[in-house]
Amino acid sequence: MDVTIEPLHCGTLTSGRSMFEAGATDDPITIPVPSWLIRHPKGLVLVDCGMHGDLAGPSDYLELVSMFFGVGIEPGQLIGDALGRVEVDPADIDVVVLSHLHFDHAGGLSQIPNATVVVQADEWAAGGDDDLVAANSFVATDYRLGHAIVEADGEHDLFGDGLVTCIPTPGHTPGHQSVRVRLADREVVLCGDCAYFEETLNGGALPPVGHDAEQQARSIAALEAMRTAGALLIPGHDPDTFAALPSRLA
Ligand SMILES: [Zn+2]
Repeated sequence: MDVTIEPLHCGTLTSGRSMFEAGATDDPITIPVPSWLIRHPKGLVLVDCGMHGDLAGPSDYLELVSMFFGVGIEPGQLIGDALGRVEVDPADIDVVVLSHLHFDHAGGLSQIPNATVVVQADEWAAGGDDDLVAANSFVATDYRLGHAIVEADGEHDLFGDGLVTCIPTPGHTPGHQSVRVRLADREVVLCGDCAYFEETLNGGALPPVGHDAEQQARSIAALEAMRTAGALLIPGHDPDTFAALPSRLA
């Protein structure tokens, strides 16, 4: 049984680099917003789903986000359209794994109607707690849409065969998770926002804002240990890493 990963480009965010890396300059940096299509013999999995359709044109939502980021969504980059480009009907996605509930990861959920959503229990609880929603800048209308929810409690093997496994990596948000995928001859870890950049995995600074920086540092150390054991780590928003990926990892 073979599994593949296809990176999907779901737009960009632009802000001063210091927004993403404490102590960096305010020079603008544009980061990709990726989603990941995993084809497993038993189902189609999407890891994160980009941004809400309202951010592709004038809206109150776009006005809010534009206070912090320049949003770039080209035609074809909303997740429903991005899936169409790889000939997948969004209605056929079986599982959406949300690394966490931030708007650039959970916002596209409304375009994926039939999937079961797998999220860490701590993240889902935070997403239902008014104080934590505010503290983490979650947008509840992104994700409270009536999908079936699986609240994972720690490591969660999606198909029971060890090929696609959610790995808790909290800190960026209360219940952040990464996803380990066993390809034919190597292991890939989709880090999500546990590490924005390649540098974050090499001792670089964390963002100035996050749920718990010490917890995030421990999660990064756990990812680094997986890299030492041979895994390829793919950070969440690194422009160079994302641009260099092939259209399919197998
Ligand atoms: Zn985030």
